[in-house]
Amino acid sequence: MAEIIDGREIARKLDEKTGAEIKAMLDAGQRRPGLAVILVGEDPASQVYVSRKIKACERVGIESSEYRLPADTGQDELLALIGRLNDDANVHGILCQVPLPPQIDTRLVLLAIDPAKDVDGFHPMNAGLLFTGSEGLVACTPSGVIHLLKSVVPDPTGMDALVIGRSNIVGKPVAMLLLNEGCTVTIAHSKTRNLPEIARRSDIIVAASGIAEMVKGGWVKPGAVLLDVGITRVRGENGKDRLVGDIAFDEVQHAGAVTPVPGGVGPMTIACLLANTVRAAKALDRGKARAPAA
Ligand code: NAD
Repeated sequence: MAEIIDGREIARKLDEKTGAEIKAMLDAGQRRPGLAVILVGEDPASQVYVSRKIKACERVGIESSEYRLPADTGQDELLALIGRLNDDANVHGILCQVPLPPQIDTRLVLLAIDPAKDVDGFHPMNAGLLFTGSEGLVACTPSGVIHLLKSVVPDPTGMDALVIGRSNIVGKPVAMLLLNEGCTVTIAHSKTRNLPEIARRSDIIVAASGIAEMVKGGWVKPGAVLLDVGITRVRGENGKDRLVGDIAFDEVQHAGAVTPVPGGVGPMTIACLLANTVRAAKALDRGKARAPAA
């Protein structure tokens, strides 16, 4: 019987730690960490994600500020807002919810965010730091995946890990983190041949293709650790929608451990965002302490 990795509980513990760190910062006379969240347009899923992030900030004691801009906002206007937030000492983290409307070049927006405040970890500077194994702000979902993995395998050194998916926000950073943990990593994608065969020899599988239940029971080696990033909404037999992952959950009882969907990787993403905001606040404060007096 596979162990079910409880992402909600692990996220709750991480939030507790983040809350305690904030309290210690305030006790030491430091500024309360601040997160600015920008939402352009009215995409319903993005609105839900943004509200969840704002509520989570309140829960741990991060000061959040929300910038809701109309769908026809111009690129220059958005870049000007980011410039102001970059210069605002009360803002330690800036998050611009994607997807952005078509008139806005997402790459330019991500480049405009000060890497020291890039709590999503999407700036090429932070991606490069991760690539070189240096300290930077790491993308939240990948970071959450590693947390969950280490809750069942504290030291994955030498294990064979398969990452299904090569996106810049999930697949590639997860692969880099696994490599930094000493795993032997295979990255599979839409052009990969013999995926079931590669999966069957893997000790760890991170599934991030967005294809509902693509990883079948027969793909999974007994005892393997399965981390399911995928989220797909499907219509159930009762006519109600439900969320499913990339792993056929009911077929993998012979795995060592598996994350459920929902309640696995999802809750960790927000917990890691909060942790990144505190990390950014501490690093920015340290930087200020070192800066010469004007
Ligand atoms: P994406 O669409 O950018 O990337 C999907 C990847 O899957 C691509 O690299 C593609 O090459 C690969 N792929 C497609 N078909 C494949 C196949 N048949 N075999 C192997 N690989 C295949 O998606 P993304 O942004 O990386 O997100 C992936 C999934 O994770 C989605 O379901 C998304 O909703 C979910 N997600 C969840 C969270 C969370 O917090 N839980 C966060 C981000 C993304």
